Amino acid sequence: MRLLLVEDDVMVASGIKLGLSDAGYAVDWVGSAERAEEVLRKEAFDAAIIDIGLPKMDGLELTRRLRLPEMANPAMPVLILTARDALQDRVQGLDLGADDYMIKPFELPELLARLRALLRRSQAATSAVLSFGPIELDTANRRASARHQGGSTSIELGPREWTVLEYLLIHAPKPTSKDKLLQALTGWDKEITSNAVEVYISRLRAKLEPYGVLLRSIRGFGYRLEHDTDSQ
Ligand code: CA
Repeated sequence: MRLLLVEDDVMVASGIKLGLSDAGYAVDWVGSAERAEEVLRKEAFDAAIIDIGLPKMDGLELTRRLRLPEMANPAMPVLILTARDALQDRVQGLDLGADDYMIKPFELPELLARLRALLRRSQAATSAVLSFGPIELDTANRRASARHQGGSTSIELGPREWTVLEYLLIHAPKPTSKDKLLQALTGWDKEITSNAVEVYISRLRAKLEPYGVLLRSIRGFGYRLEHDTDSQ
């Protein structure tokens, strides 16, 4: 999942960014609403976290603008960060299209839980567990596993492998485009080529095939999960 963080306080921003990256998100960080608006016109994110107190244009005006149809993803979930005494900001933020808010200072686990809930709603999944055939991805506890007759075996996934599998599971049984996977993996601070997507796909293939789950390439488009029931 690719997130945009809009926060002018460098210390706060780096703390949040680190926490989100550790949780497996690709995070791009900008320090002003003007820069955020520029980026959001061109690039689609899965969600945005926006501090209300920003220099010049504030987070409320940004929240209003990012719902405009010329934005790359005007339906994206938005979580705003506000000060404890700023009731009016929270009310206005929600009225302008924010989906949720956090009051500063907050604990990272709560931010992560709220983000998961927002992303679930926007991806139309109802539970924190994504599954396909015997494969289960528990997004709340960050555990991947495969069910089989003898019980369940956990599958070790690197953060990038996790991201790719999460997208494939969200779209299954429909295919996921290679572009979408590339976007999900890309932060501006990392150079990722479409070859990298193939690398993660091939690692995932090796980890999923023993459980009868195949990653079919769809020429010119992307990849689709398939469950080979014969192997069960
Ligand atoms: Ca601020």
